Amino acid sequence: MEKIGILEGRQKQIYEKKEDEAAFDIKCETTSLSGSVSQRACVFCGSRVVLYPVADALHVVHGPIGCAAYTWDIRGAVSSGPELHRLSFSTDLREMDVIYGGEKKLHRSLVELIDDYRPKAAFIYSTCIIGLIGDDIDAVCRKVSQEKGIPVLPVHSEGFKGTKKDGYRAACDALMKLVGKGSTEGIGKYSINILGEFNLAGEAWIIKNYYEEMGIEVVSTMTGDGRVGDIRRSHGASLNIVQCSGSMVKLAKMMEEKYGIPYLRVSYFGIEDMSKALYDVAKHFSDNPAIMEAAKALVSREVGELYPQLREFRNELEGKKAAIYVGGAFKAFSLIKALRSVGMNVVLAGSQTGNKDDYSGLKEMCDEGTVIVDDSNPVELSKFILEKEADLLIGGVKERPIAYKLGVAFCDHNHERKIPLAGFEGMYNFIREVYSSVMSPVWRFAPRKGGLSS
Ligand code: SF4
Repeated sequence: MEKIGILEGRQKQIYEKKEDEAAFDIKCETTSLSGSVSQRACVFCGSRVVLYPVADALHVVHGPIGCAAYTWDIRGAVSSGPELHRLSFSTDLREMDVIYGGEKKLHRSLVELIDDYRPKAAFIYSTCIIGLIGDDIDAVCRKVSQEKGIPVLPVHSEGFKGTKKDGYRAACDALMKLVGKGSTEGIGKYSINILGEFNLAGEAWIIKNYYEEMGIEVVSTMTGDGRVGDIRRSHGASLNIVQCSGSMVKLAKMMEEKYGIPYLRVSYFGIEDMSKALYDVAKHFSDNPAIMEAAKALVSREVGELYPQLREFRNELEGKKAAIYVGGAFKAFSLIKALRSVGMNVVLAGSQTGNKDDYSGLKEMCDEGTVIVDDSNPVELSKFILEKEADLLIGGVKERPIAYKLGVAFCDHNHERKIPLAGFEGMYNFIREVYSSVMSPVWRFAPRKGGLSS
């Protein structure tokens, strides 16, 4: 196999774990290297993925049509009611708008869309070109909001102005403008908001059912199956539970500061982390022992059903190697634990948006020889998958072709999947999918396995 090199300037964002190496100083939270063709999306895309699942809001992309097309229906994000979020609206800026400005066009578009669709709120996304021509979208949003009587919220997500994480921040700023605007009447003491769960394939419903079974009231989910009215009254909840911490911790911190609502970081992937998420919430409400009792009963029932099923998969998957490349690093922790529970080893763990703490946590958790990588590109991922002889890549839509071209099994753990992977039933779905892909006979024909060459 021909050795694949690493671009100059990328070395500091890659680390291979060695047992005797104490110093760990991976470079992260920085803009992507020019020419690297990063797997990471732009600032605008970051805010779009966070806000998109708010199903009764209007989402208008102010910019050229390409930005809207790029993110149209970007997440599964199923809704139990309205589906306005699934329509992608854009002001479709052209050359004349760039010369003369796009504010009038934005105003016209918003008035027409609000009249036609009667949304509960509108999110207006600023794209690269808006940052360049300097349209005052705040002023347009204020004007339309007064004229139409609904919140019209600017999202300052000009694509070039940072990393995808800046987009998450812009989304949190926009959500914070809704929080606190509704009545909290009727919200009980044992109540939570679920943050960072996007209901891609119904996961928010699974998680919500668990909490409700424990006797906990879920005031809002942000943003999966999200509703503007619920977000407006979410400051009435006693606790924020944050998954996908990269995207939503900022909102949790702002709510803690302004409304005194504490938050917990959790993950709903894998048996260990799912159980911990329920127990941690039960511990928070320790003045009500019935909640902990209900959590214990729930976990014992679910795990009792799941273990025998997983054992069957473990027999075949034991010793197989996995590469993980995901958006937020926190998810990688859960995936490593989940894969270990069926005997699989992780040889590559990377993320688009991890911070120093995330990566040093990964370093502690990973075995010797595991490669940890920040903001990677297809060439690097290919290199490590081949060198480490991974049997499986876990990633998103942009990683899928890398796996298939290399003749490696793939599991989608990102926006596009249609089968829930969260909760106990999600763990079963996940391992079943891993099993089906890794054990597929098709890989025998991949060139790297000595099969057919193209
Ligand atoms: S905001 Fe900028 S970087 Fe993002 S899709 Fe639009 S043009 Fe591309």
